Amino acid sequence: MNDKPKRIAVMGGTFDPIHYGHLVAAEAVRDRFQLEKVIFMPTGNPPHKEYRKVSSREDRYLMTILATVTNPFFQVSDIELKRKGYTYTIDTLRELLNIYGEDAEIYFITGADAVMEILTWRNVEQVLSMCRIVSAFRPGYDIHQFRNKVLEIEKTYKNKVHLIEVPALAISSTEIRNRIQNNRTIKYLLPEQVEKYILKKGLYKGDE
Ligand code: NAP
Repeated sequence: MNDKPKRIAVMGGTFDPIHYGHLVAAEAVRDRFQLEKVIFMPTGNPPHKEYRKVSSREDRYLMTILATVTNPFFQVSDIELKRKGYTYTIDTLRELLNIYGEDAEIYFITGADAVMEILTWRNVEQVLSMCRIVSAFRPGYDIHQFRNKVLEIEKTYKNKVHLIEVPALAISSTEIRNRIQNNRTIKYLLPEQVEKYILKKGLYKGDE
């Protein structure tokens, strides 16, 4: 008997740091689509982005593990973190379909900004044939421009993009990093274990 999960979500993002907005969004999508698990996938080295200094792969991986450990439906993958060179979603999807079988249904959850850029991704047509996109967006996001982009994607690639507004995404990693720099509290914005890890390692203190 094959007991590999067949309906899974992949939660892709930098997670620098992971916070309650991400966790609430992942659980909301799992619940809405009745998925068997959510795989958090911290990004390795994403293309076409000049990044601010991002925390090390190890720190982002460990924070993601600490944040997700209490939810039996959540797991963390290091396949993008281990990949050399740029990390493309197409390669991640190929690896996952290899692991879970070609008939696995993958829901790729990401932020609205990533969806706005998705048509520029490597092998976008294949990406959109291998997974369903779920865009979790924060309250106040410019939904008008966003909807036009979603219609364009759906029309061109016949792939439905699911939109889900997540009020908890009012929390953002940028805001958390800024708060730390300014010696302000980050309590209740992210799990306590992650807060302790950040403080112990002195993360984000010296950011500009
Ligand atoms: P990012 O820099 O971490 O996030 C951009 C924005 O989206 C931020 O506002 C972020 O909020 C939010 N966000 C990030 N992950 C989210 C999630 N899972 N759910 C809801 N909101 C989220 O990420 P990114 O560079 O846009 O990449 C997102 C995903 O797309 C990654 O998996 C990446 O590998 C993939 N991607 C692929 C390609 C490609 O294949 N060519 C190109 C670009 C991106 P916070 O700051 O609060 O997290």
